[in-house]
Amino acid sequence: MDINAIPPAVKPARSPVTDGGALSRRDALAALSALGLGAVASSALAQEARPPSPDGLATGGRGHLTAEMLGWDANAKQYVLPKLRYAYDALEPHIDAATMEIHHSRHHASYVAGLNKALSELAKIRDGSGDAALIKHWSREVAFHGGGHVNHSLFWLTLAPEAMRGKAPSLDLAAHIGRDFGSFERFLSHFQAAANAVEGSGWAWLMYDFVAGRLIVTQMEKQQNLYMTGAAPLLGVDVWEHAYYLKYQNKRADYVKSWLNVVNWAMVDELFALARGM
Ligand code: MN
Repeated sequence: MDINAIPPAVKPARSPVTDGGALSRRDALAALSALGLGAVASSALAQEARPPSPDGLATGGRGHLTAEMLGWDANAKQYVLPKLRYAYDALEPHIDAATMEIHHSRHHASYVAGLNKALSELAKIRDGSGDAALIKHWSREVAFHGGGHVNHSLFWLTLAPEAMRGKAPSLDLAAHIGRDFGSFERFLSHFQAAANAVEGSGWAWLMYDFVAGRLIVTQMEKQQNLYMTGAAPLLGVDVWEHAYYLKYQNKRADYVKSWLNVVNWAMVDELFALARGM
């Protein structure tokens, strides 16, 4: 909906969502009402009332994101391919099992291997056994494969089958989306348009910019180009062809639209809280 279309009589005298910074729960409720986001508010409240899930995935809050879930083996001090918390066919029909298996077990695995390899080569350069002339090459490899690893780890976490996912943003996140994008619908259209317009391979992201304390939508080319320093990734859609070509061929927009059905908003809420140090 268009906030400018709200008749003056129902506009709040002072909007609690026009200034940067965190919103209190009361402000968030007022903001949602002012923006006409009653449906989002209801979903958010229903989500907050749901019982905790045994695996923690469908539960908002904090403390559920372990190193293992994010693809880091604290004992081996190596990045690792995180285990998916659902079966390869669990996101059908929106994302097909074959795409999921190839994407996770081959593409993501290659980013993990590339990242570990690049860091190991840089360590050799530090101890004098490597080729110092290649520092630029291996540094680029860290950025590309490291970006790929983190992007994909978050990608799997922010998706979930129906029984495991939070189906709407929390009240808090919904209010911030309303404040920073005008409405949830405007955010969705901006996000989808950004994803559809990525040139070549890349991502669209909902990010939290800690400098301004605001949510932003960005495009990412490859695995890290166009990244805005200091912005924390909250929700990203992979628009490399390997993410959708088997099922959707060249119809990226259809894939992005369908992908939105399997977003686990409870995890996006959790990343949003972590990004703000909550
Ligand atoms: Mn990918």
